[in-house]
Amino acid sequence: RAKSHGKNQMEFFDEKMQITLENQLNIERKLSSAIENKELYIEFQPQYKLPSGELRGFEVLARWCNPIIGQVSPTSFIPMAESNGLIVSIGKRIMKEACFGFEKLVSEYKIPPTLSINVSVVQFQDPEFIPYVKSIIEASGIEPKYLEFEITESVCITSPEVARHILTELKLLGIKISLDDFGTGYSSLSYLRTLPLDVVKIDKSFIEPIGKIPNEKNIVKTIIDMAHQLDLEVIAEGIEEKIQYDYLIQNNCDYVQGNYIGKPLPIFAL
Ligand code: C2E
Ligand code: CA
Ligand code: CA
Repeated sequence: RAKSHGKNQMEFFDEKMQITLENQLNIERKLSSAIENKELYIEFQPQYKLPSGELRGFEVLARWCNPIIGQVSPTSFIPMAESNGLIVSIGKRIMKEACFGFEKLVSEYKIPPTLSINVSVVQFQDPEFIPYVKSIIEASGIEPKYLEFEITESVCITSPEVARHILTELKLLGIKISLDDFGTGYSSLSYLRTLPLDVVKIDKSFIEPIGKIPNEKNIVKTIIDMAHQLDLEVIAEGIEEKIQYDYLIQNNCDYVQGNYIGKPLPIFAL
């Protein structure tokens, strides 16, 4: 744990730490059998076009429900799966399930929606990643133009050359790329210029203060304007209130995603 707080750190052992460690090991052990035990599933969170409110597509979100520990948030199990490598197989299953579920979504919603799939930096390092994406596209019959991969800037920080190569391959296949959680972390503007991006997603932490903290909303407007100057589209995430929705329409945001206009989410088991 000292190491996770940075180099040259020291911490003394206490019993509470032992419990957290055991707890984590216990959860990690359960996660490794979660796929075969069919405890993982995906939910689709709708995204809407502005100002019309028409459906644009869905973000595919991983869910885990274990019979003993119950529902575990992806904010806990995804980082765990990233650090032990399980994300590679979990990510494959999610992609497979989402692509094979596409037909069902098309028949339900009449227009083909875009599917936004979160892809972790660890998946990019897997040499089988691109061949797997190709094989799933072929097997499921989904047209790649309906697929969008959400990456975070960690993809570029860890290995910029690999990232650029893989993103270029994905673009050649016809898959859209969106930069997730924009505005958090380093948010180096050079990524916006140098990566083959289509969409920028504004993190929900910037949407939440709209209508509550004066001036915060100006950051949102600035991101939208900047992205448009660079020919990128913008999705604002975490819309819960009308005031946020109205502000985003007024400031020409392209799409919104969140609980405000949420319909029940379609759910598929993995
Ligand atoms: P994210 O990619 O930023 O996903 C958006 C998160 O914001 C989701 O949380 C979503 O449920 C939540 N959200 C969207 N709209 C609203 C809203 O109006 N209000 C509130 N309160 N929350 C909203 P979730 O599902 O807990 O996912 C958390 C994170 O876990 C994701 O953040 C993503 O980083 C990761 N994750 C989830 N599924 C996957 C996956 O399949 N693969 C990978 N690599 N990561 C995933
Ligand atoms: Ca995302
Ligand atoms: Ca996000």
